[in-house]
Amino acid sequence: MIDKKNSAARNGDKPRGYLERCTAALDQALDEVPAYRAWRQFDLGKSTPIDERYAGLPALTKRDMNVHTPAAFIPSGRLLAEGLKSGEIELVETSGTTEDKVVNVWYQPWWNASELASWALNAHAVKVATGNQREAILANPLNVGFRSELGDLPMEKRRLARFLFLNDLADPLAWTDGYCDRMLRELELFQPVTLEANPSLLSRLCRYALRTGKRAYQPPLIVLTYEYPSFIHRRHMAAVFNAPIMSSYGSTESGYVFSECEHGRFHQNVDYCRVDFLPFRDDFGGPELGKLLVTTFDNPWRSLIRFDVGDVGRLEPKPCPCGRKAGITMALIEGRTANLTITPEGRPVTQAQVDRSLAVISRIDDYELRQTDESSYRLRIVGDTGLDPSTDAQAREVLRKIYGSKARIAVEEAQDLAPGPSGKFQLVKALFPLNHASFLDPRFRPPVPADSAAGGGP
Ligand SMILES: [Zn+2]
Repeated sequence: MIDKKNSAARNGDKPRGYLERCTAALDQALDEVPAYRAWRQFDLGKSTPIDERYAGLPALTKRDMNVHTPAAFIPSGRLLAEGLKSGEIELVETSGTTEDKVVNVWYQPWWNASELASWALNAHAVKVATGNQREAILANPLNVGFRSELGDLPMEKRRLARFLFLNDLADPLAWTDGYCDRMLRELELFQPVTLEANPSLLSRLCRYALRTGKRAYQPPLIVLTYEYPSFIHRRHMAAVFNAPIMSSYGSTESGYVFSECEHGRFHQNVDYCRVDFLPFRDDFGGPELGKLLVTTFDNPWRSLIRFDVGDVGRLEPKPCPCGRKAGITMALIEGRTANLTITPEGRPVTQAQVDRSLAVISRIDDYELRQTDESSYRLRIVGDTGLDPSTDAQAREVLRKIYGSKARIAVEEAQDLAPGPSGKFQLVKALFPLNHASFLDPRFRPPVPADSAAGGGP
């Protein structure tokens, strides 16, 4: 039996109307949306409690999404060609490796509403984020914004509506001191209410400010998104900015799913999505640790059911001091499934487990951990003082504690670290495929439909 306490944390408090919206989203998908035709055989029927109906269904992966056309996810009554012609929607391709790339039907009003609702989950954001506030964005132009090979677009060419995109260089290693000065100067000029940032990039700018003693304009709120925020990167931000920092989780496909509250827990954006939590096996970190599947509500142009966002979260069993109770509360989003590694015995290790431990070593400014085979790990670290014997010994000890005595650990110094092809940094990664489905508690493993791309589930 699953213990009741965890079951309650896994399901969260259901706000008024939530179960009805879950039912409406599922019924619409199964009745009207072509992409879910092969799922009908798994449905336990409309007389079955809705949570049980969801639990019996497959998960939707990005690869599965590519099996279908974007039109196959549109509920009946709407036509892709007409929406594109009228300008109501557009097609947006997510960045990533070939198999992760998805063409999304993008409906801006739904995205904006999902974002606005997510700000209600943080007391600082509620005060400043109106949906019309001036916002500076520090992101890789491969993900959002305007790109220039030389990084020489003038400020006015990087403006769009209420936004200013600070960075036009896809390669952050090309940032010169003058380029960092430009970003600091523009923050001062633009005086954004919110600064939305990719955490690795903001950490890089903060390290520049710390190294040169330059002061940064203080926005009322910093929002971290695009990447898992490392504890090390947050340390750099806290040394430069006094603003509250809110981490925001979601994806191009799912909208805003979890937001960090003012007490550092992560609350579900219940007005816009349902979350199914799939716990890992008890000996693999479950039942607190698990994968997240997202179902979106009321997007007229996209039906998304049990979408595998690729994040791993840790449930918060205690009530959050902020008082928010609706939906699932996470203690931490621990990184992505793509950033899981394993011990030589095969137990999964999350990015946060590695990151939290390495963050204790204050001389590490940045790092990259690669698992090269079942028992070999290569850590590359960046730090002002280089790789001195004490940092080397501490790093080895930290990794030994995580991966155990059979782990073969190499530690190297790196001058700098580059982002992956998607423009995002991957701090931790295994260089060989892991069978993520095998980490899950078998009672929660989703079935695999006949038209699945992988044939092996998420
Ligand atoms: Zn809270």
